[in-house]
Amino acid sequence: MAKFIFVTGGVTSSLGKGIIAASLAKLLQSRGLKVTIQKFDPYLNVDPGTLNPYEHGECFVTDDGAETDLDLGHYERFLNLPTSQANNVTTGRIYQTVINREREGEYLGKTVQVVPHITDEIKRRMLLLGESDNYDIVITELGGTVGDIESLPFVEAVRQLQWELPEEDCMVVHLTLIPYLKAAKELKTKPTQHSVRMLSQEGVHPDVIVCRTEHPLSDEIRRKVALFCNVKPNAVIEALDASTIYEVPLKMLQEGLDVIVLKQLQINGYAAPELTKWRGFLDKLNYPKSRVKIGLIGKYIELQDAYKSILESFIHAGAMNQCKVQIVNVHSEFLTNENIADKLRDLDGLLVAPGFGNRGVEGKIIAVKYARENKMPFFGICLGMQMAVIEFARNVLGWQNAHSTEMDAITPYPVIALMEEQKKVKKKGGTMRLGAYPCEIAPNTLAHKIYESELISERHRHRWEFNNNYLNDFEHAGLLASGRNPDSKLVEIVELKGHPYFIGVQYHPELKSTVENPHPLFVNFVKAAGEFAELKIKIKISQGETIPS
Ligand code: GLN
Repeated sequence: MAKFIFVTGGVTSSLGKGIIAASLAKLLQSRGLKVTIQKFDPYLNVDPGTLNPYEHGECFVTDDGAETDLDLGHYERFLNLPTSQANNVTTGRIYQTVINREREGEYLGKTVQVVPHITDEIKRRMLLLGESDNYDIVITELGGTVGDIESLPFVEAVRQLQWELPEEDCMVVHLTLIPYLKAAKELKTKPTQHSVRMLSQEGVHPDVIVCRTEHPLSDEIRRKVALFCNVKPNAVIEALDASTIYEVPLKMLQEGLDVIVLKQLQINGYAAPELTKWRGFLDKLNYPKSRVKIGLIGKYIELQDAYKSILESFIHAGAMNQCKVQIVNVHSEFLTNENIADKLRDLDGLLVAPGFGNRGVEGKIIAVKYARENKMPFFGICLGMQMAVIEFARNVLGWQNAHSTEMDAITPYPVIALMEEQKKVKKKGGTMRLGAYPCEIAPNTLAHKIYESELISERHRHRWEFNNNYLNDFEHAGLLASGRNPDSKLVEIVELKGHPYFIGVQYHPELKSTVENPHPLFVNFVKAAGEFAELKIKIKISQGETIPS
């Protein structure tokens, strides 16, 4: 049986519990332990699959097809290990299980209650991943903020486990905020004291307090937090704002978070942290030798969390190329044939983002046309790939009003259409084509050069597909299906003959990029954007322009 660490949050949301949990996990992993992280979310949706990105940011998808919280993306990117359905549990899923059990008569005769039935189910799921010998440590992040009505049953479950598990098998790390009052020029510990008191009232006593702060914590502040919150001064950990989330594990190492945890859990004989690859990545990230500007064409660009994995993938790929990738957000809703050149001229590459529904799609199509005609590196993901297909149909094949049946049910050219099994789908939750599928790559293609492999596996989250009835027409005109599912023959990758870098993928490569394993599609796209930038400079010089250094 594994040991368990629970990470709770106080004072406000958005303090970065996921990053702290992932950083702690990374440090423990770097010392040779087998670690996984799971997230328990207090909302009633069974999973975040039906949530609008404005509500909850990106929906992360695992290999086994679970639609999950975006923090699982951080866990995978930090640990370089896949997560699964079991790593994300919501109140909705807990209640669904308990109610289904009640309908089957399993609680016969008993009144079904929050305590013990809901809390028992929470505990069962909290322990589940630790029951095999796959892991030495399971870290559980509790979503929400201590004191919320919604998170009460989860905190209660942790209280019971603290009592039921051997003392050295369970601990609680509480993340809080130490705000800085500009007028008083002081850091304030009161909100932290209150949040720890609230947690204690619910019966849970934290072993470690991690303090998010904009300024370093003095010894006096540390002592004060320790005294009022009843922990040892060395268990008060400073989490100073970092320039990148990837610095956080090293900051936690400096603060000794991992050592406190190892001591408390009585884990002896651990190795020194092996973080060579991680540090190598940070060096490259912090000292880029070149720079590119990539346009992110999307409709949720006001909210960065909506494209979290894409943005992180660019950070990994940028570091790999020792290139600073500047993302320029371009709102697809406001792109027109008239303004497109002005908006995109300065860019070195275009990524057309995933998405659902009609809003902003015409702008995406116009952007694809610009990239295709100007030989600007293009990378379309999911809806972005579908838009590339539609653009080609309309402007190269000359099929007016070609479209996806998602946006135009009666288009004369349904080049993107629903598969038969999707037509029958009524329920929205968990019914898309989800999770990992194999893809066979054709030889002598750009995709093959990028992946250096004939068979790959990538994660999906979509309903619509390339309509194979039109495949011959597309291929004759130069848009090739360079990757296809070996069984269903669905088109997974398209690329444009004669263009230096034009690739669209039906799946979501951004879900598999990690610090230690940047995704080849992003790495090569950034490289192509760098080459395009150099070419633009050469052309400018040949035209007599002076280029500022
Ligand atoms: N809306 C499209 C579909 O369902 C694309 C989905 C996506 O971009 N994730 O097929």
